[in-house]
Amino acid sequence: MTHDQYAFNDPRTRYPSISPPVQQQQEPGIQSKMDPVPDLGETTYRGSGRLTGRKALITGGDSGIGGAVAIAFAREGADVAISYLPEEEEDAQHIVSQIENAGRKAVAFPGDLKDKDYCLALVDAAVKGLEGLDIVVSNAGKQVYVEKIEDLSDEQFEETFQTNVFAMFWIIKAAVPHLKPGSTIIATASLEAYHQLPFLLDYATTKGAINNFSKALAQQLAPRGIRVNAVAPGPTWSALQVTQGYPPDKLPEFGKDAPLGRSGQPAELAPAYVFLASGESSFVVGETLNVNGGTPTP
Ligand code: NAD
Ligand code: MG
Repeated sequence: MTHDQYAFNDPRTRYPSISPPVQQQQEPGIQSKMDPVPDLGETTYRGSGRLTGRKALITGGDSGIGGAVAIAFAREGADVAISYLPEEEEDAQHIVSQIENAGRKAVAFPGDLKDKDYCLALVDAAVKGLEGLDIVVSNAGKQVYVEKIEDLSDEQFEETFQTNVFAMFWIIKAAVPHLKPGSTIIATASLEAYHQLPFLLDYATTKGAINNFSKALAQQLAPRGIRVNAVAPGPTWSALQVTQGYPPDKLPEFGKDAPLGRSGQPAELAPAYVFLASGESSFVVGETLNVNGGTPTP
């Protein structure tokens, strides 16, 4: 692995500036059918024992950022449980084999995060399957663009909040009693929390909520020795973008307005999660780590 994440590189060209062809799939999308297929670090991520013996639950761990985080965590020495939707089994199996190839245990538990009972069962399955839990990554998300508020259905508004905010709340609430001091929780916000695209009204609103949730919860749990932080990705090439997450005709230009001039790959997000999950970030609490190709944030 000569081009791993530690290689000296030019960030503008470490990954190609892609112009994805116009393409569309039904939600939640199958990553392996995308053109180009996002890079989750399969051939590049090199672990160095930073999460040795840890036990992690990652929602939406079948693809995109969550998939890249699962691969990185496993290569850093963690056992990993992932959640995903049943129709994503193919992508999930790709990640399971990556985790197992790293010599770690994988728990795959499909279901719909909009369902509270599933969220509670997921935490249970992770705790039982991994024989404990000390990292929770809330990463799954719903993003469907709608140009006009009049066309944004009550149903979509509700489902975006259920997926992005309620599921995060249900899962973290159920997980906390299992987390001993030293455990870490990482939420997934977005550049949308600060720079709202007008056609992502519901989505941007949830991402602001996630950011605030993580900062309030961080203050609540710090005195108990549990650290909460967030990662705020910028434009990242993933299935979200080809499942009505972004206007299809604008896909070839996706991410090109970032100061680095390109969209990011999920593999470029994973190290931020590794940092926040591991003990090396022991004094970092209630922070949002922006990984967005250079757009300034408050
Ligand atoms: P992705 O499509 O690869 O991952 C999202 C995952 O969410 C899916 O794989 C799916 O398993 C899960 N999911 C969605 N609805 C669900 C439901 N009802 N039940 C169970 N699982 C469900 O896309 P991604 O870009 O890697 O997204 C991961 C996170 O990153 C999301 O929270 C997203 O908002 C955030 N994010 C992405 C970008 C970007 O540009 N890609 C930018 C900022 C933030
Ligand atoms: Mg997926």
